[in-house]
This record gives sequence, C-alpha cells and structure tokens, in this order.
Amino acid sequence: MGSGAPGRRPPGSSAPTTRTAESGAPPIPADGRITEHFGTEKNMQKGEQLYEGKAKKIFITDDPNQVLHVYKDDATAFNAQKRGTIAGKGEVNASTTAHLMGYLEGHGIPTHMIEQVSPRELLTHRVEIVMVEVIVRNVTAGSMAKRLGLEEGADIPEPFVEFCLKSDELGDPLMLREHALFMKLATADELDQIVSMTRRINELLCAYMLERNILLVDFKLEFGRMPDGQIVLADEISPDTCRFWDVDTREKLDKDRFRRDLGGVEEAYLEAHRRILSTV
Ligand code: C5P
Repeated sequence: MGSGAPGRRPPGSSAPTTRTAESGAPPIPADGRITEHFGTEKNMQKGEQLYEGKAKKIFITDDPNQVLHVYKDDATAFNAQKRGTIAGKGEVNASTTAHLMGYLEGHGIPTHMIEQVSPRELLTHRVEIVMVEVIVRNVTAGSMAKRLGLEEGADIPEPFVEFCLKSDELGDPLMLREHALFMKLATADELDQIVSMTRRINELLCAYMLERNILLVDFKLEFGRMPDGQIVLADEISPDTCRFWDVDTREKLDKDRFRRDLGGVEEAYLEAHRRILSTV
C-alpha cells in the first residue's frame, strides 16, 4: 500500500506494472484535506480521491490505514471497449460485496472489509493489492470456453484456479504461477496462501449460492497485503465479477447480460442481489 507497507514486497522485487488505488496511492496530505463527513460509528471523514477505476472510486479517510470505496453505476466490458451505465449497480455491488465478505469473515476468511457506511460506500483496510487476479472456474464459460473452443455450461469437477496479470494496458493476460514468481508479484508462500484461500472461498460461496438457487459458474478475486504482511481478500464480489446462473433455467444474473446485450441487465443485478441477501 502507498503509505503503509512499502517493505512488504520480497527483497529485490520490482514495482508492479500497474498502480492501483490501494497500492499506488499518493501519500496522505499532512493537512488532511478532508472534503466530506460520512456517518459511521467511528465518525470517519472522507478525504481526497486516491483513484478512479472502471467501477469504483477510492478516497482517503482521516485514518491512514483505512480507505473508502465508492461504487459507481458505470459499466465497462472487453477491457473498456464497451461502456455503459447500469442503474443501481453501485448499490447492488457495494451491498453484495459487504454481505458476502461478512459471510466469508464469519467462516474464517480474512478480508479488507470494515463496514458498509452508506448504500454505495464501503470502508475497508488500506491494503497493498497483489497484482495477480485469481479466477475460479466451476463450469465452462467466458474466455476459457472461447480460448479452448469449448461449449459453455460443462461442469468442471476439480475447479480450475487461474492467474491473470492485473494490467489494464495488457488486458489482464492469463499467466502461470511461474510468471507471477518471475515478475516478483508475490512470493511462493503468498501464492500458496492465495490458492488455498481461493479454494476455501469457492467451497463456501458455491454452497451459499446453491441454497439460493444460483450456480456459481466462475468469478474473479483480488487479494491484498495488510501492513503486517497478512494476505486478505480485497476488491469486490458482485455480479460484475462473478457469473451467476439460475440453477434451473440457467438464466444469467450477472454482467454477461451487459457484455452480450441480452437485455434485462438492471433486473438481473437486482435479482442476484435479492437472492444473495435473502435468508434461506
Ligand atoms: O472473461 P472470463 O471468462 O475470463 O471471466 C471469468 C470470471 O472472472 C467472470 O466471472 C468475470 O466476471 C470475472 N472477471 C472479472 N474481471 C476481469 C476478468 C474476469 O471480474 N478483469
């Protein structure tokens, strides 16, 4: 992270190729430059914007170890070649993420989440993002199906865990574990932790979704390093970053409706949100 853990990268490693909000943040201004007050029990304040991504903005707070994620309705696909807006997406994604991260925390997965402070704002620990995106596949779909010439919808009995380089410039290319080590994006021990956490998260989320009649086809995770080096789940878990299919009809309840111009995008996000927040 920008100000908290510069020594966390392994000795001799180079900086990641892409700076992200949490990893490449400028130092917190000494005068604070707090611009907005927001209501949490901790009486935190929202400061300058650190970063604006495709789906979120990140702001400093008056605690140097905490940041505020503001989820937007903006939608992009195919590495931002397709752009649009999905009304209400920010609120759906913020509260879906907060809910699922709370669920995972309750089952022993450390995350960056602190609390949801408004419908589209999440307060999190400020972490140094590991520049490797982790994709889990339970069912053939998306880029894997396209790349390998497979039909979508086949079960993968031993789910695949793939790594991609987190780089907008390069379009998040698929990479081997060896590439991540060679590029010093993470240590071997960190990658082992990330894979075992990912597999446990997948077990927990598949079971959780199935109870709500959702098939968790695939999803993308990001991880971060806390100031003490602990690896935690970061970023988001939402219809933007997961493929959710209705178990019975296989109707898509996720961003593929936007990517593929299927219509009913807002309705699908709301339906995924409704099911995921429902008690069964
Ligand atoms: O496009 P692809 O099939 O590789 O995506 C696999 C999963 O990862 C999908 O659920 C997609 O929403 C998610 N993903 C993501 N961000 C990316 C790439 C993929 O959230 N940059």
